[in-house]
Amino acid sequence: MLEVLNPATGEVVERIEPANARDADAAIARAKEAFPKWRAVEPADRARLLRRLANALDAEKESLAQLESRNTGKPIGDSRGEMGMVAETFHYYAGMPERLLGDTIPVSGGVDVTFREPLGVVGLIVPWNFPLTIASWKMAPALAAGNTLVLKPAELTPLTALEFGRIALEAGIPEGVVNVCVGPGSEVGRRIVEHPDVAKVAFTGSTAVGRGIMAGAADTIKRVTLELGGKSANVVFADADLEKAAASAPVAVFGNAGQDCCARSRILVERSIFDDFLSLMQPVVENLRVGDQFDEATEMGPLISADHREKVAAYVPEDAPVAIRGKAPEGNGFWYPPTVLAPVSNDDRAAREEIFGPVVAVIPFDDEEDAIRQANDTVYGLSGSIWTENGAKALRVARRIETGVISINSNTSVRVATPFGGMKQSGVGRELGPHALDAYTEVKNVYISTEG
Ligand code: NAD
Repeated sequence: MLEVLNPATGEVVERIEPANARDADAAIARAKEAFPKWRAVEPADRARLLRRLANALDAEKESLAQLESRNTGKPIGDSRGEMGMVAETFHYYAGMPERLLGDTIPVSGGVDVTFREPLGVVGLIVPWNFPLTIASWKMAPALAAGNTLVLKPAELTPLTALEFGRIALEAGIPEGVVNVCVGPGSEVGRRIVEHPDVAKVAFTGSTAVGRGIMAGAADTIKRVTLELGGKSANVVFADADLEKAAASAPVAVFGNAGQDCCARSRILVERSIFDDFLSLMQPVVENLRVGDQFDEATEMGPLISADHREKVAAYVPEDAPVAIRGKAPEGNGFWYPPTVLAPVSNDDRAAREEIFGPVVAVIPFDDEEDAIRQANDTVYGLSGSIWTENGAKALRVARRIETGVISINSNTSVRVATPFGGMKQSGVGRELGPHALDAYTEVKNVYISTEG
């Protein structure tokens, strides 16, 4: 039995019979059978069904948020925001079935037209940090384009995905189009990756597992998109609005208890303001409210599991340069206090590896060139921020940082209507916005002769 825990208490909230490889085969077979019917649904009707699903998700937002918080420990306010985004993602892609436009290309002796065709059965494998949100980024464009799907949630956080399956059916999405399969990555995930009837795998998770998925998909030449780890830089220049940057920097790494692929877990600060910046950050970190996820005032919850807490704690040995430390409750939950390490060299382990917890490395830099060099000195390239009041400098630096998404004077990364994804070892492909449809369609080119 799979025991699903509440990370704030360590108590079991649900027991689930996990799926195995045979169950994965059955889910893939159901999706394969449903595919011809789903792709044949007229675009306007598919749009209408997705709109009904979006409305149903809106109506169930509060109960989904409660469930997500119980299963992940994240503050209820955060879960409400996430479930809002899940519904918004379906509203956005409900507008897409009728906008899957092709090209008309004049060629000698005739004309070429292109069509955007669905891939077939897509396998979606997601992590535990934003369980239903990340799944929705994949499911909504996949369904809008006419694919059927098998979703494998993380073993630690399957509850909202299972609820989603029910809501989709009740909203009228035909049987077999959405299949949720809860089981271990090493068995169910692997089967999805290797199965010949799965046309594409969309994966979000660690870079290590992503590497194996890319290799596993090679045998059947599957399409693969990967959203992997990050070690994003938050670059603060001396001419920034320092109070605003310092108020936001802790949130940008301690949000979701640091278990965020976009966490700005390296804060690069211009040397001339290094100490001032730390002093401004100190009260924000010390006053962060860490605790019960259902207390409306809570800003940070526990880590996802005892194992994960151990992994995070290993990045803060006895002799670590702890400059600021926040509070965390005692008790059975998997708590870890917000921790600021400073000064850190960009060569230190805490600056190189994705910690995926509430631990941030603050690193000094000398000038613009040095900031860009250090920001790029990482195998990752997912997100990041630049803080300066000089607009030309902001754009110049943004263009040179090797990252898929970057914000100027803001620490946000994700919007439904804009592309999201990583460069370098942070991934392959883009989710969200119109760009996501490229990941769930093939271009077919048809030549029509106009010769007499
Ligand atoms: P993980 O890689 O351990 O697991 C992710 C999913 O893959 C889970 O569902 C797991 O069961 C499955 N899996 C594990 N082994 C597998 C295998 N051999 N074959 C197929 N599937 C397998 O990641 P995690 O610990 O759940 O999540 C944390 C990681 O996710 C972090 O590295 C984080 O940066 C990354 N992440 C990235 C993004 C992004 O958009 N770039 C977003 C969120 C999380």
